[in-house]
Amino acid sequence: MTAALTANALTALRYAPYGTEDNVRSEGDAHGWALMGIAVDHTGSAFDVDADGYFSGPAEEIMAQSNAAAFAQAMADACGEEGGTWVRVGGRCLFDANSTTATDAVDGLMGALADYPLLDESDHSEREWNAMCEEIDSEMPGAYPDDVDASDVLRELACPELGRIGYDDVMDAVRTLGYAPCSDCSEWLSPTTGREGEPLCRGCAVEETRPSVRVMPTTLSESPRYELGSPLTAVLTPYLDGRAVELGCAYREDVRAIVRGSADGYRQTYGRAA
Ligand SMILES: [Zn+2]
Repeated sequence: MTAALTANALTALRYAPYGTEDNVRSEGDAHGWALMGIAVDHTGSAFDVDADGYFSGPAEEIMAQSNAAAFAQAMADACGEEGGTWVRVGGRCLFDANSTTATDAVDGLMGALADYPLLDESDHSEREWNAMCEEIDSEMPGAYPDDVDASDVLRELACPELGRIGYDDVMDAVRTLGYAPCSDCSEWLSPTTGREGEPLCRGCAVEETRPSVRVMPTTLSESPRYELGSPLTAVLTPYLDGRAVELGCAYREDVRAIVRGSADGYRQTYGRAA
């Protein structure tokens, strides 16, 4: 016995590689189907039940994955588990075309897809949300601030589009959530004002006070060189424990002004006492 193919199935196989039709027929024989169909979309092509075709971008791919999952679920709900009157083989859904239940289920699903591109809107939304969270993860430099995750960032994005979420979008969203990265390291700060400038964490602020120290040559052939001296911790501590706490973080501009204004800093900066 060799299973016959419906007209739709033959059309769907017209560009398939040599031997595909025989394989499809033998699959039908294996299930004891006298007439078999292939689920085809409104263009006449086999519906991609594995969602592993070529996609122009992640948005299209997520759509295909959602539709493939919704299709399989709906077929199982209508016709029972895979292997009875329907089966997925080589990216196609093959079914017993003499089974009214299977034929109606396939026709219903393909008709729905012709009218609207999604079989299950909520499944698609969930997949899209998760994919966008992964995209945010990949754009996030280093770790998230303590109580922030990708979903929080996503909720802050005005019109997020899968495949188009960039580093700047992510950083803007994290700023909206009240965080700013330290200008010199990956630590997250929580500025309390909208002040422009270069925020610094405590450690980097202290580093910023290291004076450049001129080291005199020991021989005539050498030139003077500069090395970083010890940080002016005592000079900066009142600021770090006071104003910087009010501001939520230190700022490089403040640190530099304080260093220049202090007796030690003045000497380091200008090479003489004020
Ligand atoms: Zn830092």
